[in-house]
Amino acid sequence: VSTYLCERAWLGGPASEPAVLIETEGARITAVRPSYTEPLPEGTTMLRGLTVPGLANAHSHAFHRALRGRTHDARGTFWSWRELMYAVADRLDPASMLALARAVYAEMALAGITAVAEFHYLHHGPGGKAYDDPNEMGHAMVAGARAAGIRVTLVDTCYLTGGIGRPLSGAQLRFGDGDAERWAERVDSLAAAYTSAGDVTVGAAVHSVRAVPPDGISTVAAWAARSARPLHVHLSEQVAENEATEEAYGRTPTRLLADNGALGPATTVVHATHLTDDDVVLLGATGTGVCLCPTTERDLADGVGPAPALVAAGSALSLGSDSQAVVDLFEEARGVELDERLAGRRRGTFSAEQLLSAATAGGHAALGHPGDGRIAPGSVADLVSLRLDSVRTAGAGDGPATAVFAASAADVTDVVVGGRAVVRDGRHLLVDDVPGALADAVRDVTG
Ligand SMILES: [Zn+2]
Repeated sequence: VSTYLCERAWLGGPASEPAVLIETEGARITAVRPSYTEPLPEGTTMLRGLTVPGLANAHSHAFHRALRGRTHDARGTFWSWRELMYAVADRLDPASMLALARAVYAEMALAGITAVAEFHYLHHGPGGKAYDDPNEMGHAMVAGARAAGIRVTLVDTCYLTGGIGRPLSGAQLRFGDGDAERWAERVDSLAAAYTSAGDVTVGAAVHSVRAVPPDGISTVAAWAARSARPLHVHLSEQVAENEATEEAYGRTPTRLLADNGALGPATTVVHATHLTDDDVVLLGATGTGVCLCPTTERDLADGVGPAPALVAAGSALSLGSDSQAVVDLFEEARGVELDERLAGRRRGTFSAEQLLSAATAGGHAALGHPGDGRIAPGSVADLVSLRLDSVRTAGAGDGPATAVFAASAADVTDVVVGGRAVVRDGRHLLVDDVPGALADAVRDVTG
């Protein structure tokens, strides 16, 4: 049993509450008592500033962190960026993957991210040759998350074709399992390795309708449904994907997913940028979640998706750092609203508490843990404290709007993950020198 006294804590409303005592047992919150004035239980940890629930990063490719600062300044497209990404993918092995994942997840912990959905497709060795344990790269991702002190939902990604009707080539060969049945066999053994692990969830992903043919989509969706695991998929990030799908199948990517059983409340589609009105209705009516990644979408010139229409139709939002161009979920949260202001020339479509909920409860639900990401009894004991006296936050209030519209990841001082302190006073307690670890790991895979 542990207790925390938060100077201010956000419990889900439009304002924060003062003097909130939080009691935890093991990894869970057992009691929350705002305006606490009684004597403090012995050993109570003081959390200064504003405490919010742990942030959940619902879409990550850890190794893309190696591209930060190397691909932004030139002209080019999503597709030319992808060529550079493949060059890094080609160099990674289980040891360098683990080192990079550990460093990137430590960066995330310092930013207040307590759980991450890793969209994992770099499965095999060069040329597509399986490692002795065909899940060695997945185990490296898990080991990286554990070393950094955060939980991971490893959404193991089926990736079979290099485009509709085209075989894999080059670095893509490392992503493939041959067919969806062999993907399912491999992921069965991955899931079996973590059945009793509280910090690891194995989920499924369809890379995209470009990379998995319809019968493969059905197989992956059936696997996820059978084992009640989350299913993620990249959807309509680029207009070219829509055009190719219309040409090959005579329908939109969203309709293709629906026709193959891949939509529903356990599914999260990532990006959902270029949708028809029918697509929006289909996603909302099936209760499919939508993960937006505004900093990546702006970096790659993807466009702005119809977030308000999706929410109105019934889809829940979550947020992801995706390409790691930026690791700051406060920036992702404000990006949703600020992009909408530019696209719709209207302010205030989303409230600060809606945006902060997407970064917290919405993300944990997308990771397969609905009910987590709240400061409430029964929720996982993930707490993130922000300074209210930095140059960014001083004088900017103490409610959810302060977190979303004033703070940055650099304002995070303390992070508790499942009842365990991982960051204290801005220092990572498990990884001594996070910038040094990042620099070493990136140098190792970029030369
Ligand atoms: Zn992605």
